[in-house]
Amino acid sequence: MDITVRAFGGLGLLLSLARLCAQSSGPELKVEVHTYNYSGVSADVLTRAEQAAGRIYRRVGVEMEWRHCARTAEELALNETCELPGTATRLTLRLLSNAMAQKFHRDSNVCGLALVREDGGFGEEAYVFADRARELALDEELQSVILGHFIAHELGHLLLNDTGHPALSGIMHVPWQKQELQQAKQGGLLFLPWQSEKIRAQVIARGLAVGQPSAQTTTWEQLNASGSELHSKGHYADAERAFRGALEKAEEAADPRRIARSLNDLAVVLRARGDFAHAEEMYRLAVSIWEALPEPANLAAGLGNLASLYSEEAQYDRAEPLSRRALEIQLQISGPGDPNVASQLDTLGDIQFGLGHYADAESTLRKALAVQERALSPNDRQLTDTLIGLGSVCSALARFREAERFYRRAISIRKTALGDQHPDTARALNQLALLYFLERQYGKAEQLWTVVIHSLDAALGPEHPEISAVLNNLGAAYLNESRFSEAETQLRRALSICEKSLGPDHHCAAASLGHLAVIRRKEHQYGEAESLFRRALGIDEKALGRERAEVFTILSNLGVTYYFDGRYQDAEPIFLRALKIGEQSLGPAHPDVVNTLADYSALLRKLNRKGEARKIEVRVRDLRAASARDNPASLEVDWRDLRRPAH
Ligand SMILES: [Zn+2]
Repeated sequence: MDITVRAFGGLGLLLSLARLCAQSSGPELKVEVHTYNYSGVSADVLTRAEQAAGRIYRRVGVEMEWRHCARTAEELALNETCELPGTATRLTLRLLSNAMAQKFHRDSNVCGLALVREDGGFGEEAYVFADRARELALDEELQSVILGHFIAHELGHLLLNDTGHPALSGIMHVPWQKQELQQAKQGGLLFLPWQSEKIRAQVIARGLAVGQPSAQTTTWEQLNASGSELHSKGHYADAERAFRGALEKAEEAADPRRIARSLNDLAVVLRARGDFAHAEEMYRLAVSIWEALPEPANLAAGLGNLASLYSEEAQYDRAEPLSRRALEIQLQISGPGDPNVASQLDTLGDIQFGLGHYADAESTLRKALAVQERALSPNDRQLTDTLIGLGSVCSALARFREAERFYRRAISIRKTALGDQHPDTARALNQLALLYFLERQYGKAEQLWTVVIHSLDAALGPEHPEISAVLNNLGAAYLNESRFSEAETQLRRALSICEKSLGPDHHCAAASLGHLAVIRRKEHQYGEAESLFRRALGIDEKALGRERAEVFTILSNLGVTYYFDGRYQDAEPIFLRALKIGEQSLGPAHPDVVNTLADYSALLRKLNRKGEARKIEVRVRDLRAASARDNPASLEVDWRDLRRPAH
């Protein structure tokens, strides 16, 4: 028995209000760069290098203005363009010769350095070892391209306010090999989306610091529209900023309709960023406003969003009544053929799936899909949530080929609508990888998860909790192949991201600790395994509550650990507590609960309580038979066995 590998869910539905007018691009972001050339690089090469760097920054949305500065008194007489001092938006760039570069004692792979301030201030000065570009390049043209990328990289450190190289690809990734140089030549070595976000935010902050006129006059509509746009592109940090601005405007105007809408939209982004607690708070506020307004369509959407959040957190008992009410309201407003009805059915189907009611979930989701196929184009993005839900149901019922077809359809729609790199595309790929994982095709799962990690890393930044979830999955794949040291590497990285991004007491840390504990158990280090399970248990009891499905999973695993360790007396109360929680949170017929019940009967046999064991074994058989009757296809293969080790 292993800790269940949990999929992370998709995004909540953004409110389907009438689309607001699209906003034109924001204020122009500008940075001035004063260049001092102490290297052997010719003025011509330098100008072309600046053009190359300028193109890279234009893709970020920042315009660079280059000024060549005098180095000597004679030159100064001819050239006074650099007389103004450096500021937050006026950077100084010095191109150094190799002899000068050696004074910095940097190894020959380093292309320069940037003076990033550690006190939170804005760094203004960077050095580029320009002669190294000449050594790397075969001709002048390539030399200017490489130099341009060196410059963009070092200025990137300043504008990202970070001396590190955490990215897995893009211009801030080091070292640069043949592949990167090739990419640079073709103009494809760029900042990643999350880096671009951060740079734009930095440049805006720098502009404010030096008193540049900012976009103080933007309206609620503009902020709202730009938030939706940024959100749809997966730029969550920028979207959050925009929606927070919109909420402020709405509150200033004391307009309850707008306040509710902005709270809801902000909650959608916070949820995408992994901040469930604040997302819940804001959804609830929005719903309470809509309860008081005559806006039933928004009330239905808000209730559906809240239900979907609870479902993602495995709080199905709270989710289900909200979801049914949302569906009822929506049906009254629009009748059964409306895509919003499909969205509500989709949420309900996810909840039924979470509860282990697979047959119900399948029928609900098929209804949703039928509505969508009638009302929407076959490539509409809204279909993909339902397709993924159906894929998960089929996968749980071991109808793997069917599941794969649903997932592939979702992936292809998202790739077309959103592109290969969008986090939602990566999320769909994650589901397919989970399917391969269940089929024990670990090689294929690993390959996909590696792609998913790269996409999420580029879109969300390397410290995002979703990456931790995928690393956790990847760790589980290695674990199942008994590649323990590779598993441990991924799980430790997952744990560290979690602890950094959400704090050491967040549920996501418990997931990694649980998997690490399974490794220790497989290595027969039962004491270590116990202490890791107990740490995970402490976190989840505190973070989620003592009666939650997650607590059931950890307790079940802890019980099995004691069982393997021969500590039968210690195992019994743990199994009993696990079963009580499992039966309450997931229901007595849930496959995971039935598995724990089976483990408990095995324990009773070890304790020589054969009569009690027999009774429970009969119950296990009956429950499994009933589940097979409800979910007929599961007769093919018992998928639950896939998660169980040989005892
Ligand atoms: Zn660097």
